[in-house]
Amino acid sequence: MFDKILIANRGEIALRILRAAKELGIATVAVHSTADAEAMHVKLADESVCIGPPPARESYLNIPALLSACEITGADALHPGYGFLSENARFAEILREHQITFIGPTPEHIRLMGDKIEAKRTAKRLGIPCVPGSEGGIEDDDAAKRIAAEIGYPVLVKAAAGGGGRGMKVARGADDLLNALHAARSEAKAAFGDDAVYLEKYLEKPRHIEIQILGDGQGNAVHLGERDCSLQRRHQKVWEEGPSPALNPEERARIGAVCAEAMRELRYTGAGTIEFLYEDGAFYFIEMNTRIQVEHPVTEMITGMDLVNEQIRIAAGAPLSVTQEEVSFWGHSIECRVNAEHPESFRPSPGRVAYFHPPGGVGVRVDSAVYQGYSIPPNYDSLVGKLIVHGRTRTEALMRLRRALDEFVVDGIETTLPLFRRLVRNPDIQNGLYDIHWLEKFLAESHADAAP
Ligand code: ADP
Repeated sequence: MFDKILIANRGEIALRILRAAKELGIATVAVHSTADAEAMHVKLADESVCIGPPPARESYLNIPALLSACEITGADALHPGYGFLSENARFAEILREHQITFIGPTPEHIRLMGDKIEAKRTAKRLGIPCVPGSEGGIEDDDAAKRIAAEIGYPVLVKAAAGGGGRGMKVARGADDLLNALHAARSEAKAAFGDDAVYLEKYLEKPRHIEIQILGDGQGNAVHLGERDCSLQRRHQKVWEEGPSPALNPEERARIGAVCAEAMRELRYTGAGTIEFLYEDGAFYFIEMNTRIQVEHPVTEMITGMDLVNEQIRIAAGAPLSVTQEEVSFWGHSIECRVNAEHPESFRPSPGRVAYFHPPGGVGVRVDSAVYQGYSIPPNYDSLVGKLIVHGRTRTEALMRLRRALDEFVVDGIETTLPLFRRLVRNPDIQNGLYDIHWLEKFLAESHADAAP
């Protein structure tokens, strides 16, 4: 096992990793920018190192500074969390060259899945069902027109290097295809430095359902069920739950088995998520994330497992702690991503948290790095914390969430808590009747209602 882990992240996920490391008896090193000197992860770690000024590219993305921090502190492993360098294959390679263990998959697997065109090819080869689309990248305008006509409109132009919903444009017909193509290319070029794009059938009313997997790189892999992340704004997840209200146990077992088998075949190492769109009873692969995800606690609540603990143990060379037969699912869990944003305009609202009272009680978990008096810096994402509930049934989880949301107080900044209080009381949500477009429609309608 490792002696010391450096946590190359900030906020709630840095704290999450720190907790798992402490429970394994491993010493922790926090890194932070000058904007984060007062952050909770810095206060709770055994050691901390300042790695640069506030802009992420000069601190949390600064590879030489992170290597120096490992060297100064003698850390023998590094956990990247999510975002920042978590899916940077070159970074994983550099660590390998320096004999520091990257807690995550191999650089080869990160690279393979980081290119969505390659990822789709691989998924297909491994027997995972995919969204109909172009076989590879789109060479030119003529190829785009030909392939879009073959797939049938509407089509979605997607960036090969995509992430965070960027570089994605819908074309309803041949007339808007070239506009969508050029817009997606320039957005992808600006965001990822890579203008490669591909085409996919645009699904009109799918749910986003993803399968959590774990592999030990020794040929063992299991699936830990699904999370339904259909409630999205601008292709970003807002509310996640498991099990999905739309799946039955047979469908879960079937798609889970396909994913686990594919990961065994790849000899995948670590935690990963295979993302699908689900429409009319069929699954369509969209991408794989080769890291721990924001919404991983939903899976922890319904399986009783600690996914970060598993990641660390796997990286240290241990086999999986469970077989597929030993994985059991219990009850229902829902996570809300509470952001420091205005609940209607979604304008960021960084600043000093004057009062902070998180909810508690049976089946309630709050993963947050915020404390009373803490100033949320404007430089990073606006996640204040994740509220996760668990109940024996979905109805119990919803009632618990309603109760927990009413207890949660964050003063001094705006948060999205009022939005969740409305969602939890909405009949469509209560009945589990929502697809990936539901939230955008709900927000547009409530905006129209509010207009004079
Ligand atoms: P990113 O990596 O940018 O998050 P994804 O491929 O994971 O991109 O897609 C993000 C979201 O975009 C999905 O959850 C879904 O809401 C929407 N989306 C992606 N592909 C399609 C598609 N073919 N049809 C309809 N919606 C899609």
